[in-house]
Amino acid sequence: MKGRCEVERKKIFFAGPSVMPVEVLTEMSENLVDYHGQGLSMLEASHRGGMFEDMYDETLALIRQVMDIPDEYEVFFLGGGATLQFSMIPLNFLKKDGFADYADTGTWSGKAASDAKTIGTVRLAYDGASSHYTSMPDPAAFKPDSAASYLYICSNETVGGIEWPAYPETGNVPLIADMSSDFFSRPVRVKDFGMIYGGIQKNLGPAGATLLIIRKDLLESRNSGLPTYLDYGTHVSQKGLYNTPPVFAIWAVKLVLDWIVRNGGLAGMDEKARSKSSLLYDVIDNSGGFYRSPVDRRFRSRMNIVFRLATEELENELIAESKKLGMLGLKGHRSVGGLRASVYNALPEADVHALVDYMRDFQARKG
Ligand SMILES: *Cc1c(COP(=O)(O)O)cnc(C)c1O
Repeated sequence: MKGRCEVERKKIFFAGPSVMPVEVLTEMSENLVDYHGQGLSMLEASHRGGMFEDMYDETLALIRQVMDIPDEYEVFFLGGGATLQFSMIPLNFLKKDGFADYADTGTWSGKAASDAKTIGTVRLAYDGASSHYTSMPDPAAFKPDSAASYLYICSNETVGGIEWPAYPETGNVPLIADMSSDFFSRPVRVKDFGMIYGGIQKNLGPAGATLLIIRKDLLESRNSGLPTYLDYGTHVSQKGLYNTPPVFAIWAVKLVLDWIVRNGGLAGMDEKARSKSSLLYDVIDNSGGFYRSPVDRRFRSRMNIVFRLATEELENELIAESKKLGMLGLKGHRSVGGLRASVYNALPEADVHALVDYMRDFQARKG
């Protein structure tokens, strides 16, 4: 394939939108104007036509295959970002006279809980405020109230850099997880969940779509009387094609899934994630305190490695220099400061080695 190795690529540590496999970008560019000789672009294709629908069906089948999703789950895409789900979930599943349990582990689960409060009663089954969102409950011991409509968790807190190492067992209470930032980065036992969803722009493609996986019996028990678009039933009854789907983003997901399959599937992604994140945590842990990880090590994210230096000046210096070396996105989220290296599936291990070398060199000069 032309172009693949000719471009000098930056090292892309952005938290989202984020790095995509260069093979996927190349394949998209080669088929952008003329999709596999069909004389039009996927960008121009009708979502009611064969060219899109063939690709769409393949994508849904690939998602089921890669994630090993049982038949009793519906799979579809929506626009509106993961953020739209913060209200759609309680609208559909928070029982009118009931309550929902939320584990508030940081920015994203906090936003979800706050939206749910505008719709119904929320019980914080875990409140991370006292630990400044640097820790999480022990998944083996964590239980929702048995009367809760569901338990909501965020699988990986992208801003705080903490991740559930395993998921709580919730019995009859449906477990709902936002997997936006660790989607498809490790095998997941789908049957333990009522619903899994995530924006695709971290591990699965460009911005513009959210992928939803919902168990059919949960769907059947949803609240009635919702506006058409906000009712999950609308989308599943139309195979996810009630309105115009994010065609371009879905095509990209298809190609990223092919890439995941070629690279060892979810077990392969997990192995890569562990080795890449360990490289960074090792530099931090072996820096004699020059670099510091603020998070409980039992819950360290394999995706977003958050770290601090002694002063903000030093942090800014490191970020400014890193840009000159072609490393992008190392500045921490504006709400927490510090540094953050996002090492999603598509980030080459070589880029992590480059960052590690640079961090060691920076410490040697400034430490
Ligand atoms: C990025 C992110 C979101 C928000 O996604 P949008 O698509 O921008 O709405 C939600 N949850 C998590 C965990 C995220 O990382």
